[in-house]
Order: sequence, then structure tokens, then C-alpha cells
Amino acid sequence: MALIVHKYGGTSMGSIERIKNVAKRVAKWHRAGHQVVVVPSAMSGETNRLLGLANEISETPDPRELDMLASTGEQASSALLAIALQTIGIESKSFTGWQVPIKTDDAYTKARIRSIDADRIKRELNQGKVVVVTGFQGVDEDNNITTLGRGGSDTSAVAIAAAIKADECLIFTDVDGVYTTDPRIVPEAKRLNVISFEEMLEMASLGSKVLQIRSVEFAGKYHVPLRVLSSLTDPDLPIEVEKHSGTLITYEENSQMEAAVVSGIAFSRDEAKITLLAIPDKPGIAFGIIGPIADANIDIDMIIQNQSVNGTTDFSFTVSKADFNRAVQVIKEEVAPKIGAKDVFVEQQVCKVSIVGIGMKSHAGVASRMFATLANENINIEMVSTSEIKTSVLIEDKYMELAVRALHKAFELDKEPENTGIN
Ligand code: ADP
Ligand code: ASP
Ligand code: MG
Repeated sequence: MALIVHKYGGTSMGSIERIKNVAKRVAKWHRAGHQVVVVPSAMSGETNRLLGLANEISETPDPRELDMLASTGEQASSALLAIALQTIGIESKSFTGWQVPIKTDDAYTKARIRSIDADRIKRELNQGKVVVVTGFQGVDEDNNITTLGRGGSDTSAVAIAAAIKADECLIFTDVDGVYTTDPRIVPEAKRLNVISFEEMLEMASLGSKVLQIRSVEFAGKYHVPLRVLSSLTDPDLPIEVEKHSGTLITYEENSQMEAAVVSGIAFSRDEAKITLLAIPDKPGIAFGIIGPIADANIDIDMIIQNQSVNGTTDFSFTVSKADFNRAVQVIKEEVAPKIGAKDVFVEQQVCKVSIVGIGMKSHAGVASRMFATLANENINIEMVSTSEIKTSVLIEDKYMELAVRALHKAFELDKEPENTGIN
């Protein structure tokens, strides 16, 4: 008998028929003698619908009320799943974040989990029930409902798995695993049988939304055994087959993975670029720009500063599109007049494309192959950032799909390599 957490995303919970299928799949695991906690997302489209209603009333709705509102999507889907389980003879109870409780900080719409009380969940499990816990939500010190950021049910599931010391956390979704890139953009993308935790962390942080970044961080911190697999297969698929399907996130570096120089390609449209022109090139200027941005609680992604000509230089950085307006305001009103910038340029039609692979650590020439590929397609590179296992470029967003496809081909990710963990 094992203790397992299942997470089902919006598409997997997207209709009554699908919820019944989820119940069948969960029942199969329960009847095989496993203790199961299920973390559902809201039915697909529901979170957008709810947030859209708020936006019809106000352009700047109160984040506390947004969380009150958005959290209802998961409350509804959890209750429906518990009812579906009960209907097929499985004892089940659903709980919201505050009933567990899942305690978070008070950063509405992007709260972080601080603690999870495992007692209630364990008690119900020990009574033979399937426990359903709402994804995406928690409660702060003052009992205000909070949500964990879009895609946050992944994080709920992994954090619950860590708290109850589950043997495995299975993320059921609408694809059958983690692919070399988003299969919606590149149909030739290949499913990875295993991916290292480090690579998954980079892929998620660089825009692959198959797992929310914080769920991967949690998994790494607590070494939660994590697998991404399909919820759209036959719910009666034998457990022996299902438990080896999809993609395993592994914490071991093995020789198989070292063979792959580049394991995957990630992309994100959530970038906007701000450039300060002709600023003085002297100590303290970078801090004079980035300091006020950080004080405004805005995260910076890429940074580039040019060689100075006649003592002045240009300085560019990127922020997420959601923070763009605030960042421009800080730069135009506070920073530019103070440090004496000649002008400020802004650009929102940009995207970031990244290649990720543990094998890059030991292979020279990977960035060069990336740049050559983009040059062949006549795609201009505006900014570059690198780490040991990734190279990212900022390009015009109209070239995003072309760049991803060309890089996928150039790094032979569409081929069936002999020894890279791809099956
Ligand atoms: P869920 O609702 O189950 O949480 P998401 O839509 O959040 O599902 O994530 C699954 C989607 O992530 C897939 O449908 C796919 O389009 C996208 N995706 C992006 N990058 C990848 C990747 N590298 N591998 C697999 N799926 C990816
Ligand atoms: N329902 C939330 C969202 O749409 C959380 C999730 O699905 O993970 O972002
Ligand atoms: Mg998701």
C-alpha cells in the first residue's frame, strides 16, 4: 500500500463526463489498496470566467476579493469530484484550503505556502476515505482566502505530498508527459521518459507551463517523487502500466541524461523590454536603475548594458508584461530624470526562447549553434542570458514559433536519440 497524491488539471476536470472519469481512475487506485489524496483544479475556463467577471466591474479589482472569487472554482470542482466518487461507492470528503488548513502568506493572487496541517487529511485517510483537497488556494494568518498564482494547483499537490510524506505525486494533465517542447507548437516534439529536476526547474521557470515553477521548487526542496502523466487515457488502464507512464522528474544525475546536450526548448511571451538611452557609465548607475524597480517589488529577468561611447551607455532590462506599466512609470518618473537618461525606449512585442540541457555543462559551442540557427532564419537576437544549463534569447515575438521549430530541429530533438531517456 502506498500513499499517493493525484492532481488533475482544468482540462482533466473540464466536464461532468471527465470528472466521472477522474473518479473512476481514483477509485481504481483506492481499490488497489492505496491511500489517495486528490487535488483538482477548477473546471477548464472557470478561473478565467470568474476573473473576467471581476474585470467587467473594475479595471483594478481588489486582489483580496479576486482570491475570494477565483478560489470558488476549485471548491466547486472538488465537491463535484467527491460526489462522483461517492456515487461509485467510494467514501470521499472534500476540503477547501482553509479547512485543512493550508497556511500561506498574504500576497493575494500569488501567495506562497508556509505550512500545511497534515492531521485532518491523515485522519480521513485512515478512515478509508479518498480525501479531495482544493488546489490553488490557502488561507493567511487572518483567515483571508489566498490563491497561489495561475497554475497553482500543481504547487498545492506537491506541497500536500510533501506535508503528508506521500510516496509519489502524480500530476495528471492533458498531455502524456513532459515533452522536448510544447507539442502544441511543435507537433514533432518527443515525450521525455525522465527529466532531471534541474532541467525541469529551468523549463518551468522559462515558460513551460506544464508544471508551475513553484511546484518544481517544492518538489526539489522536499524530494517529492513527481511524475507527469495523462488523464485522458482509459481510466481502467492497469495501475502497473499507468505508474510507469508519462515523465518522471528525477533527482539523480544519470549517464543517460548526460548524453543529451539540449533536452528541451522553453518559450515565454511574458516579457517586456525597457531601455534607458545614453546614461552616464559610472559606478552606481545600475543600482540607480534596478534599485527603485526592486523597491517597487518588480522582478527583473534579463539585463544588458552596452560598451560606453564618450562616457555614456545604453541599459536594457526585461520585466513580465504584468509589471510593465508600473516599471515604465518608475523608470520615466523616478529613475530617468535622476540619473540623466537621454530617452527611454519600451518594447512589448518580444518573447524569450530558451534551450535547456544538463549536457550543456560539458559541451562548448551550444550557444553558437543556437545563434547560427537563428541567423539562418534571419531572426535578430536582442538580448542573451545564460546559466550552466540554459541559454535564453530575447527576440521579436512574431518569430517565436519559427525560432522554437528551427531550434528543435537544429538540436535534433525531433529524432529518436539512442540514449537520452526519450522513449
Ligand atoms: P493543467 O490544466 O493540467 O494544469 P496546463 O495547461 O497547465 O494543464 O499544462 C499542460 C499544457 O502545457 C499542455 O497542454 C502543453 O500545451 C503545455 N506545455 C508547454 N510546454 C510543455 C512541455 N515541454 N511538455 C508538455 N507540455 C507542455
Ligand atoms: N484554476 C487555477 C488556474 O486556472 C489553478 C490551476 O488550474 O492550477 O490558474
Ligand atoms: Mg497547469
